Amino acid sequence: MKYDRFINDKNKDLISFVKTKYHVRVKKSNRDSWTSEIKGKQVIIGALECNHPYAAFAHELLHVKYQIMGYKKLKFGISEFDKTDYFKTLMEALDNELQHHIMYDEFIKLGFKPEEFYHDNDYKNKSSIEIYLNGNEHDLKSSLLMFLTIIAPGGCFSNKEQSDFLNKLKDLEKGIHKQLFQDSEQLFHTWSKSTDYDYKEILTNLFLKLPNGNITWLGHGDKSEFPENGFFIEKEFVMKPTEK
Ligand SMILES: [Zn+2]
Repeated sequence: MKYDRFINDKNKDLISFVKTKYHVRVKKSNRDSWTSEIKGKQVIIGALECNHPYAAFAHELLHVKYQIMGYKKLKFGISEFDKTDYFKTLMEALDNELQHHIMYDEFIKLGFKPEEFYHDNDYKNKSSIEIYLNGNEHDLKSSLLMFLTIIAPGGCFSNKEQSDFLNKLKDLEKGIHKQLFQDSEQLFHTWSKSTDYDYKEILTNLFLKLPNGNITWLGHGDKSEFPENGFFIEKEFVMKPTEK
């Protein structure tokens, strides 16, 4: 797909920067949002029809730019905190949101609007947050994913809505996880100012606050790269045969 139609004055320097390192290819996204992937010498951007294509293209290029500048994707992990598919979902959310927090300021500096930061279907998040906060079941694992969605920078809700959601989340279940979310909010704030894009410290601090989170390994590649291509939160361990 020709991508000239996604380039404008706001993102033209960004595409030039990415092209110094990778060949950029754009194809139709097979998901319900724009995507980007680095494969060898290529960057493959998955595009969709949307209301603000220049911003969406810039968003994906920023994901790539910060990987060029040192951010290593979070791809596979093992943890005593959770042994189910949930952990994969948590890793994907963390990887995505960690990147969003470091690239958001630049997105705004390029001249885009906060509400252009995500794809058109971002409004769905708002109702899913409301349904969760007003519902009856609030376990730590679901609340943690909700927390990542609420504190994500930019998007369709105002600062006031964001802080209202966050306060509601902190007060769920008589405030049992209030401290955790307060501390985590601070961790993400510090992270958003990171200059080396190494999340080892923030994620170590975060996982140490989770039940059994100290027994966790987080990796940048696949299973076979355990334990070299990644890091332990606290204790070192070996992979059980069932996890291999
Ligand atoms: Zn993104």
